[in-house]
Amino acid sequence: MKFGGASVATPEHFPIIAQIISCRLARYSNIAVVISAMGDTTDQLIQLAKRVHPTPPEREYDMLVSVGERISIALLAMALAIENIQGISFTGSQSGIITCSRHSDARIADVRPHRILQAFSSGKIAIVAGFQGMSREGEITTLGRGGSDTTAVALGIALRAEKVEFFKDVDGIYLEDPKKIRSQAPYPHLDYAEALAIASRGAKVLHARSISLAARNKIPLEVRSYTTDPNAPCGTVINDYGIDGRSTSFHTLGNSSPHYEFD
Ligand code: ASP
Ligand code: MG
Repeated sequence: MKFGGASVATPEHFPIIAQIISCRLARYSNIAVVISAMGDTTDQLIQLAKRVHPTPPEREYDMLVSVGERISIALLAMALAIENIQGISFTGSQSGIITCSRHSDARIADVRPHRILQAFSSGKIAIVAGFQGMSREGEITTLGRGGSDTTAVALGIALRAEKVEFFKDVDGIYLEDPKKIRSQAPYPHLDYAEALAIASRGAKVLHARSISLAARNKIPLEVRSYTTDPNAPCGTVINDYGIDGRSTSFHTLGNSSPHYEFD
C-alpha cells in the first residue's frame, strides 16, 4: 500500500489511513505500507536548506529532505497503535533500499528487505519511508521528487507482492488532470505502456519511473482514492493482462529464482 503526501496532509489524516489498513488486514496477512512526507513538508525542508545555504552540500541536503518521510512513518505507527494494530516504522536504509550514490536523484540498485520480512513474521505491518535509501557507502540518499511511488514499486517487487495499491487524492488515472478538467471518468484499465505515456505527459498521478519499474517486473498496480470505500473497486488497474487479469499476477509467473530489475 502506498499513501502520498496529500493523503497525510494533516495529523487528522493518519487515523483515516489506519482505518484503511485495518480494512486490508481482513484480506492480507502481510502488508507493507510506503508513505510520503506530509503535504508540502518536502518543499518546506528544501526552503529551509536554502535559507542556510543557496546550494546546500548534497549529502546534507539528502540528510535534511529525507526527514519528511520519517515524520510520516512514525505518526502512522502511532495511529495504528491506537487501533491496536501492530506496526513498525522503518527508514529507507532500515528497509534495505540500496541506491547508487547520486544524491537527490538516486536510483534503486537493490532491495534487501530483511527487517520487513522479520516484521511480517512477527505479525507486524511494515511502514516504510518512501523517497529515500542508502548508498553502498552507507550514505542517506533520496530518489528525486515524487520518488515514493518508486520506493513502493521496488519494495513490492522485492517482497513479491501480489500488487501495489496507490491511495491518492484522485480516484484513478485520467486522460487530463481531473483537478483541472472535470467530467471525465478514470481509465478502468491501462497497460504499462499506456500508463507510462499518460504519466509522462500531463496528469502525473504516478511517478513515471515507478511505472517503468513495474512494467519491467510485471507487478500489477492499482490506483484509488484514499477517501472512497477501500472495498469498492479501484479506479485504475495497470497490468498487461486486461482488467480481469489480476490472477495472472507477478506471483504466478513462475519466477521461482527471481532476477529482479530495479530502477
Ligand atoms: N516527499 C517527496 C516529494 O515531495 C517524495 C514523494 O512525495 O513522493 O517529492
Ligand atoms: Mg511529497
